[in-house]
Amino acid sequence: LVRLRERLSRSQNTLGRGLLTLLSRDHLDEDTWEEIEDTLLTADVGVAPTQELVERLRERVRVLGTRTTAELRALLREELLALVGTDLDRTVHTEGGVSAEGVVRPGVVLVVGVNGTGKTTTTGKLARVLVADGKSVVLGAADTFRAAAADQLQTWGERVGARTVRGPEAGDPASVAFDAVKEGIAASADVVLVDTAGRLHTKAGLMDELGKVKRVVEKHGPVDEVLLVLDATTGQNGLIQARVFAEVVDVTGIVLTKLDGTAKGGIVIAVQRELKVPVKLVGLGEGADDLAPFEPEAFVDALIG
Ligand code: GDP
Repeated sequence: LVRLRERLSRSQNTLGRGLLTLLSRDHLDEDTWEEIEDTLLTADVGVAPTQELVERLRERVRVLGTRTTAELRALLREELLALVGTDLDRTVHTEGGVSAEGVVRPGVVLVVGVNGTGKTTTTGKLARVLVADGKSVVLGAADTFRAAAADQLQTWGERVGARTVRGPEAGDPASVAFDAVKEGIAASADVVLVDTAGRLHTKAGLMDELGKVKRVVEKHGPVDEVLLVLDATTGQNGLIQARVFAEVVDVTGIVLTKLDGTAKGGIVIAVQRELKVPVKLVGLGEGADDLAPFEPEAFVDALIG
């Protein structure tokens, strides 16, 4: 796994750059506050969290009599960390379990999100991490609507050493998902990762499709993790998508992709606040190794330089 801090500091990050120049000044004045606010807003932290942060920061600076930007930097780091959250459960759960009949069930992870966000790529990268960790993985190609998705997933599977279960083109996603978990149980696999279709045509359509996938998979036992993949470059649009998906399935973790290509790192804060679900993984590129666990400290350090 790549180091989050190293990769983020190499990426285009306005929040990082903005705060860095700001904090290299030698004294605080009214402009400082305005610039902090602007920088956080530009980075997509969101209006309410930004205002709250700046207010808390001002109050602490007043109480402590902070005068230098170096001292301010330390306070800002603390406040950003508090916003990002240091005590959330960011483990991707793949424990599985044992059914009432004594059948051992692999961990099941559903990967959901709008097409193009990086769902299939994330599923492949995650498989690679799990296989490298000594786990046996089965992939379910339940995105049966995008013609190339199953091929793409199978290619990932072959590359990392995971078997891919797929159905007929334009077949029923739920039945592919069901078969993938069935195969995982039969093969005594450790984890089944199910790539789903993300057609956000209508909420009702999504609800039918994705809701059904989850219900059908649950016939084998509970789902361990529902990962929502969001493209960090889509900004506020990502938040709207997140809201819709969260209404349809119980999202348990967020994967923020394409964080390498955006100045909008603050979306981490905005989306966690919106869904009350932690960001667990981040995508930092198209390559097989470009998936990293989300580490709050490394993230905040990369932001403030
Ligand atoms: P899906 O339709 O949601 O399954 O999306 P794909 O997995 O096919 O990804 C869409 C595009 O985004 C592909 O070109 C991926 O290589 C690219 N992609 C996925 N994750 C990342 C990432 O973290 N960073 C960058 N730069 N590109 C990514």
